[in-house]
Amino acid sequence: MNYAEIKTTDIANGTGVRTSLFVSGCTHHCKGCFNEETWDFNFGKAFTKEVEDEIIESLRPTYITGITILGGEPMEVVNQKALRPFIERIKKELPGKTIWVYSGYQWEEINDKNNKRCNGEDTEAILSNIDVLVDGEFNLELKDISLKFRGSSNQRIIMVQESLKEGRIVLSDLNG
Ligand code: SF4
Repeated sequence: MNYAEIKTTDIANGTGVRTSLFVSGCTHHCKGCFNEETWDFNFGKAFTKEVEDEIIESLRPTYITGITILGGEPMEVVNQKALRPFIERIKKELPGKTIWVYSGYQWEEINDKNNKRCNGEDTEAILSNIDVLVDGEFNLELKDISLKFRGSSNQRIIMVQESLKEGRIVLSDLNG
């Protein structure tokens, strides 16, 4: 997997102060995408062990709430392969940090075992380790700059563990 950018002390993509990892590769090609260069899976730099270590270090300070993984598209199955061990590592080494993932795929698609674009052998493990999924493609017609942590009103801020437990989508209060 390649990544486009790492932002430390990011306050725009999730609650608190976070490290954000923008991965490369996205097949959605939404109209009005804010990050077109990251559609290319080869864009940016290789996501190496050193980069992982650097991110882990950035998460250690107590004022850092957690990590947000966005893109590009973290839930393309090929990106899931690289992200699964990384997410598991964060959970193990820094269990107090929250993990947010932004995906253009919807919750229903990600949980559909027949959907080979975004459901694969790593999906369950990723979902079992993340706190929040912001789902759905960016829709230019539904763009609303007043929304918290979302670009358009079709997107949903989903509490992942609560949703898995209850077998239905549990939305965060942040959806307003
Ligand atoms: S899912 Fe995100 S990165 Fe991909 S095209 Fe849509 S807005 Fe751009």
